[in-house]
Amino acid sequence: MIDTHCHLDFEDFDDDREDVVGRAKDKLDNVIVSGFSNDSNMKVLQLSKDYEGFIYPTFGFHPVSSQNATPEEIKIAHENISKHLDDIVAIGEVGMDYYYVTDKALRERQQEIFTGFLELADEYEVPIVMHVRDCEKKTVNIIAEYENIPYFVFHCYGGSLKTAKRIMNMDNAYMSFSTMLCYSKHHQDLVEKIDLDYILTETDSPYLAMTKEERNEPANVVNAVYKIAELKDMDVETVDKTTTRNALKIFKI
Ligand SMILES: [Zn+2]
Repeated sequence: MIDTHCHLDFEDFDDDREDVVGRAKDKLDNVIVSGFSNDSNMKVLQLSKDYEGFIYPTFGFHPVSSQNATPEEIKIAHENISKHLDDIVAIGEVGMDYYYVTDKALRERQQEIFTGFLELADEYEVPIVMHVRDCEKKTVNIIAEYENIPYFVFHCYGGSLKTAKRIMNMDNAYMSFSTMLCYSKHHQDLVEKIDLDYILTETDSPYLAMTKEERNEPANVVNAVYKIAELKDMDVETVDKTTTRNALKIFKI
């Protein structure tokens, strides 16, 4: 099993990161930690060095913070991606969030920054991990133009089934489902109808725990795998094997 998206660099884990990684190692093959900002990108790089062969980094700039980022900050993010191409397994998380960002000008700025990262992924031919909320259809239209990006990942996919079908038709795009599956009816309905060949698993730790007070951690990705098996009426081993294979292929681990 693989947690394809989490934030182990967050200070939420400062007191017991070693234990959290230990528990992940007991259950999982790998963990992918996604950079959030320029500082976060450097932290995830360090984590991938501390836990070489187990933790893999992606460098990005979160869409909600990117709306307020200066051109200089975005430039640094681009430079770090170019500089660390051999270290990172994808660009992300980047994307667009229409849930939190409602202002038209800020949404445009978000899209401009997102396409900047898409151009970079296209130029370097690396996968892209996207945070997309309430604008999934628009995003599918945008990414369709980038022919050299090997794989697209919609992290925590929560769009419509109709858009999910378009994503499956792209054949190099995947939808990642988190531990949220255990309680979200919408996500459960989606997973029932999305082909396992286009599904990845994640936790988005420390977010999306079973309760608001709890801190999520990568080892909990097991719960998502079990839930997918239950919803699709498949055995856990098949779900585990297929989703792990999807992740290994995308991130070339
Ligand atoms: Zn995230």
